[in-house]
Amino acid sequence: MVGVGKGAEMGVLIKNAEVLEKLERVNTLVIDKTGTLTEGKPKIDHIHTTANWQENAILQVAASLEALSEHPIGLSILQEAKKRALPLSSVNAFQAVTGFGVKGFIDEKEILVGTAEFLKEMHSKGIEELQNSVKEALTVIFIAIQGQAVGYITVKDPIKASTPKAIEDLHRLGVKVIMLTGDNIETAQSVATKLQIDEVYAGVNPLDKQAFIQKHKSEKKVIAMAGDGMNDAAALATADVGIAMGTGSDVAIESAGVTLVKGDLNGAVLAFHLSRNTMRNIHQNLFFAFIYNLLGLPIAAGALYPVFGLLLNPMIASVAMTLSSLSVIFNALRLKSIKVR
Ligand code: ADP
Ligand code: MG
Repeated sequence: MVGVGKGAEMGVLIKNAEVLEKLERVNTLVIDKTGTLTEGKPKIDHIHTTANWQENAILQVAASLEALSEHPIGLSILQEAKKRALPLSSVNAFQAVTGFGVKGFIDEKEILVGTAEFLKEMHSKGIEELQNSVKEALTVIFIAIQGQAVGYITVKDPIKASTPKAIEDLHRLGVKVIMLTGDNIETAQSVATKLQIDEVYAGVNPLDKQAFIQKHKSEKKVIAMAGDGMNDAAALATADVGIAMGTGSDVAIESAGVTLVKGDLNGAVLAFHLSRNTMRNIHQNLFFAFIYNLLGLPIAAGALYPVFGLLLNPMIASVAMTLSSLSVIFNALRLKSIKVR
């Protein structure tokens, strides 16, 4: 109770005691990129078009679809279109494919907006040529109209200022850090290198994220998963401990054992510290709870009587009993004053 309370004070909401106990044994932390390591508020960087297309035409089509999406990338595309005062078209048969992109019809023309893999899977032509013209390690959103790639939009999603220190502290705590993202490998790799993340897996869809956690769990690793729930709620629920960003989706917060109110990974570091401190405290308390009985019971039973003529006065016994409870309570309350950075 003191541990959970202390966590709440620091903006780390721990669902129950079991979560706090499990956290101590976690040796691997799997982290989602967008919205967890990065700010999750992407900015449009550049719009690239093929031969006969205007930047605004492509942006207008993409924004019309993204207006119906909940993805942060969709939001940034929509905002850019608004900034340029482009009117949106009405969209029929809209469909969002989590972790890949969106699909819909404008004037009976099929529009696809999303990853290169997504568009290729939907049989769009001309993706490879476009892919080859991408120079930087950026998140790239491709757009196809009637099965033909017409251009792409690159977006930049900066790493949260608080992330590098959190990763460093996690390493210091001996926790292995793995990044799991739906984004392309180039962007994923560039973020991972900057942050010195141990392992990276890119192009991972939500179901594969969950399968990845399941697989590592069966390898007897104790896994925590941190995410914002945009497409990792299932993985969060599967992990031994799910850590949701308070800035993320409600599903994530619902399914996770730990919620970081500030949406900052340093909260995860606090949670690990807190659980280790709490578990150490619990072990000390077990010692206090047993030591009085261990010493007192044999004396009370007359173990020392034959040699020393010593018995335990029931009044002293009850004082000892109370002291054992008091020492446990006061030791637990000490947790309130621990300094966790
Ligand atoms: P992460 O796993 O890093 O949180 P997501 O799984 O949310 O990333 O997204 C993976 C990729 O899928 C994005 O980088 C983007 O290319 C594409 N994508 C997902 N949703 C959309 C959307 N609404 N519009 C355009 N692209 C999208
Ligand atoms: Mg995400």
